[in-house]
Amino acid sequence: MDGPAPRGFRTGRRARLSAPAKRGVAAAAAPVGNAPQAGIEGWTAGPRITILRGMKIPSLAALALAAVPAFAPAAGADRPNPAIAAVVSEIQPARIEATIRRLAAFGTRNSLSDTVSDTRGIGAARRWIKSRLEDCARDSGGRLQVAFDEHHVESGSRVPRPTDFVNVVATLPGEQAESRDRIYVISGHYDSMPTDPTDGTSDAPGANDDASGTAVSMELACAMSRHRFDATLVFLTVAGEEQGLYGSTGFAKAARAKGLDIEGMITNDIVGNTRSAEGAVDQGRLRLFAQGVPAVKELPDDVLAMLRTGGENDLPTRQLARAIAAAARTYVPGLRIQTVWRRDRYLRGGDHFPFQQEGYPAVRFTEPVENWNHQHQNVRVENGIQYGDLPGFVDFGYVAQVARVNAAALASLALAPAAPREAKIEALKLESDTTLSWAANREPDLAGYRVVWRDTTAPDWQHARDVGNVTRVTLPVSKDDVVFGIQAYDRDGNVSPAVYPLPLLPRRPPVVK
Ligand SMILES: [Zn+2]
Repeated sequence: MDGPAPRGFRTGRRARLSAPAKRGVAAAAAPVGNAPQAGIEGWTAGPRITILRGMKIPSLAALALAAVPAFAPAAGADRPNPAIAAVVSEIQPARIEATIRRLAAFGTRNSLSDTVSDTRGIGAARRWIKSRLEDCARDSGGRLQVAFDEHHVESGSRVPRPTDFVNVVATLPGEQAESRDRIYVISGHYDSMPTDPTDGTSDAPGANDDASGTAVSMELACAMSRHRFDATLVFLTVAGEEQGLYGSTGFAKAARAKGLDIEGMITNDIVGNTRSAEGAVDQGRLRLFAQGVPAVKELPDDVLAMLRTGGENDLPTRQLARAIAAAARTYVPGLRIQTVWRRDRYLRGGDHFPFQQEGYPAVRFTEPVENWNHQHQNVRVENGIQYGDLPGFVDFGYVAQVARVNAAALASLALAPAAPREAKIEALKLESDTTLSWAANREPDLAGYRVVWRDTTAPDWQHARDVGNVTRVTLPVSKDDVVFGIQAYDRDGNVSPAVYPLPLLPRRPPVVK
């Protein structure tokens, strides 16, 4: 979104921080599956300890662990999965470019523009998106399901008259009964705006904002629906983003009302420019915005329990971001993910906001450098400068790389088991070991669990230990000094995102009168 965040997103509304919040952060913290983490085998022959990438010097905690008896190693939990590499290899740069050029050719896709014409306006654009996705649905053997999703709004600051905001939703149901209700959503907004967001007639090609993200969603729908995943994938293209996130808000609210278990949402918004206004080019980096503790006046009890033990960087959205970055490192090493621990850029917002508002883990991808001459500008030349969001300013090869990152992340998440539920760290007495426990996963292909940890000041996991198919383990590492996470993995080595273990505290002694 461009422009101020919509009402309600800045105020201290009561934290519906999370479904996680309601189910217990442990459960909720199960955001997303994680690509197998590339790492270096432990330096001892005994226990299987993996020092994760970026870790240079073994910590005392890891060295202590080397003395522990070995557990069964995960079956390939550190190997890239050929099935995920195959999905990534099917991204078609030419199809992405054609999609962006076709969307820009509708002249304007402003949410207040013509809905009747077959050649110009948002109505023609959404009918074209739907028909393209239906073509891909046929290629999927009918497994991909495509539908419009309408949300009526009477009025608003950028909605001068009653308007129907119509999303296009393509759903690929999961193939595993125990995982099908777990959903991952990828979204881009297909509406656009010229200088004035309520101007439905001027040209607003919106090639970068956000035909680029729309093309990523559509490309993934077509490429991924030729494959099978355990969990359900939703490829969303939404309207009304520039009017105040209406399409995504309608979808997210309906999902919450239906009790849908969305374990991760990614919006791709403005993912096609690699040249700054000053001419600097950066094609090697992609920004991933991941919120920490939400800025609300009241936090749910389980989030407070996390904060009391230093878990402020381990809420579900941050775990989702770690899992996405791990998948990108493994499968798209040419594009560096720059995780930004912030909800969005200054003065900006996006379609991940309503999902966060409804308690779902949600993140945003955005290009490395922005050029504001080509965002939210009437198409014109002024003082020799071309303004407007035209296809000529989009780096199509870069958008294809962004699509590959999204494909790797979604495939990793949707093939992996859910993150473990009811994760606990025992704090029943003073001790130097750490005992962790969790509820058993239900997936039939589950192979075991992995404990990961890091220094409290480190951004990502530094150590990993596969502990086999158990639901309780004691490690000779002091919980006072590190942050733990627990992951689940399956027989193919697909690893879930981590979940933060909540403290299991001693019961208060009975009051004696
Ligand atoms: Zn946008």
